[in-house]
Amino acid sequence: MLVRWPVPIVVSSGALVPLGVFALMFVAFSGGSKPSVLAAAALLGGVGGIVSLIVHELGHVSVARKLSGVTPEKVSVMCLGAAAHLDVLPVLGRRQRGAGQHGGDPAAVKSGSVPRGGGAP
Ligand SMILES: [Zn+2]
Repeated sequence: MLVRWPVPIVVSSGALVPLGVFALMFVAFSGGSKPSVLAAAALLGGVGGIVSLIVHELGHVSVARKLSGVTPEKVSVMCLGAAAHLDVLPVLGRRQRGAGQHGGDPAAVKSGSVPRGGGAP
């Protein structure tokens, strides 16, 4: 089966930061004391946390693909979390690029004059 990603997913070395934070959170709340339980919690939290960030950003990409004038470019995982990079064709007709954040995640929306949140939750 051929799996075709809608956009490239770029994982930088900075992704170790959220991976470590997720791993530590899972260890802290695991309630376990055996090393094997703590290691499993760290692995589940670290990897699962990064996967959940990517899935979240792919949701932004999915919505962006339905909007006219918005082209999803990539999803990146970095030290602050993850971001969906979108190329937005502003209403004025000039192709502009920018970056921004919203909510608790650093979703980078490259925008010109199109207001943020105008389609991506
Ligand atoms: Zn988001």
